[in-house]
Amino acid sequence: MKGAAVARRAVRRAVSTALPGGRIVRSAALPAAAHLLPSVLVLGQWWPRAAPPLRSLPGGLCRWRGPDTGRPEVALTFDDGPDPVGSLAVAGLLEEAGMAGSFFTVGELVEANPEIVRELKARGHEVGTHGYRHRHHLLQRGSDTAADLTRAVSALERIGPGFRPRYFRPPYGQVSAGSIAACQRAGLEMVLWSAWGREWAEQEPAAVAARIARRLEPGAIVLLHDSEATSPPGTAARAREALGEVLAKLDAAGLRSVTLSDLLRR
Ligand SMILES: [Zn+2]
Repeated sequence: MKGAAVARRAVRRAVSTALPGGRIVRSAALPAAAHLLPSVLVLGQWWPRAAPPLRSLPGGLCRWRGPDTGRPEVALTFDDGPDPVGSLAVAGLLEEAGMAGSFFTVGELVEANPEIVRELKARGHEVGTHGYRHRHHLLQRGSDTAADLTRAVSALERIGPGFRPRYFRPPYGQVSAGSIAACQRAGLEMVLWSAWGREWAEQEPAAVAARIARRLEPGAIVLLHDSEATSPPGTAARAREALGEVLAKLDAAGLRSVTLSDLLRR
């Protein structure tokens, strides 16, 4: 993958710059290191237990999970929609269980499917933004990220009053220094996750549900997908099947899913 190779080269450059005692510190590498540092920290999503310091962006800059309020609540979140099939199917499953979800929408899909966004909100779910285009922030300049976020917010605001999003999730969960600045300028709060299903890579819905179940606890923020616009075919169907199991496990554990606004702000 060309993008991944570019990112790997950039990481190597940044790391060599940061080595203590390194005699060669190229000036061009310093901005690259500043650009990449936040994502070095959020790489903890791959090793959440073994390397906790890698998951350590402060809560003021991004949220990995809800506060320890003692309330038996989690937030189930769904990325990459709105999708004409997947989004309302997911919403229906949540509602059958008496729970609410949060949907991180892609701006260009919001423009194509505004009625789905309207319906999600009318039915009590939260609508956040996942950017206007689903682009990796490390592979673009901070100014492009800022423009993308502004456009994403506008796409939702045009739907009607009350649609301005409160929360933003970066594509691929990776952020540059520019992402953090752009997010704060746009008045958005960045939200990552504490549990994911990796349903784009797993073959069986049961494996997706089991991966999430291991980290279901009060305050958990769970990542699933209601769309496979940027994932292999079968991803969204697997997520929906797994969701049924996750909802049953929540119910059995006495937990319920609420919107991010309810989880983080009440
Ligand atoms: Zn995504």
